[in-house]
Amino acid sequence: MNLDNIRIVLVNTSHPGNIGGVARAMKNMGLSRLYLVAPRQFPDEQASWRAASAGDVLDAAVVTATLDEAIADCQFVVGTSARGRRIPWPLQDPRSCARRMASASATEQVAVLFGREDRGLTNEELQLCNLHLNIPTSADYSSLNLAMAVQVVCYELRMLLDAGQLPASEDDEWDAPFATRDNMERFYQHLEQTLVDVEFLDPAAPRQLMTRLRRLYSRVRLDEMELNILRGILTETQKWVRKAQPQDVSGASGAEDYTPKTK
Ligand code: SAH
Repeated sequence: MNLDNIRIVLVNTSHPGNIGGVARAMKNMGLSRLYLVAPRQFPDEQASWRAASAGDVLDAAVVTATLDEAIADCQFVVGTSARGRRIPWPLQDPRSCARRMASASATEQVAVLFGREDRGLTNEELQLCNLHLNIPTSADYSSLNLAMAVQVVCYELRMLLDAGQLPASEDDEWDAPFATRDNMERFYQHLEQTLVDVEFLDPAAPRQLMTRLRRLYSRVRLDEMELNILRGILTETQKWVRKAQPQDVSGASGAEDYTPKTK
């Protein structure tokens, strides 16, 4: 496990005090990489005040305009959520999820995403993730304060580190690196376009097709080699579609030529 390979990503945080609270929660547990996606107010006095002696974590925080930028180079992304979503994703509690993150962090860049105070992460943001993490709570009130949710996740990582019984990494024996988020995103765009080209996907009525395909590939986790093979298949498919199109037109006129005359 390498805590330096695990980043905490806060999306559109409203209250700078929460950002400070998160920095403190992280430093207490030995994490240091904080990413802030379009925070409402940062830097801010309240953030520094709540961070107490974790001002260095705030100073080193990376502020980005979009979530994509914050996780482009990550190979394992976890989204935290207080409630279930329409299309369920693989869901784990903080303890089992910490094991997956610890294992991946030996060789990969890992991100844990935390949402807005008022409405959490959007479905679209959650669909960028390999796994969803839910902190078990009372059914009466499931939404924790942002910094407290970060505390629970970082604590579980700390416990694994201190126990010294780290799960063997499933990934460092693998023969190719796992695909990064930005390469996965390029693949999804390519896949979507190809499905439109072959008329499997109707852009006017896409339904949940791309969401389900994203879930499929996130669950499997492609390595870069597998990703290249799939991209190659898509490129060839598109070539054939393009080749078929002019023939269709001439085919149509050819078919006309061969239409038997009724008289
Ligand atoms: N009202 C929002 C919750 C926002 S709480 C909603 O219904 O989604 C702010 C953030 O703290 C959440 O986006 C999530 O990242 C984290 N969080 C709060 N409670 C959580 C829980 N029980 N499990 C996992 N993450 C939680």
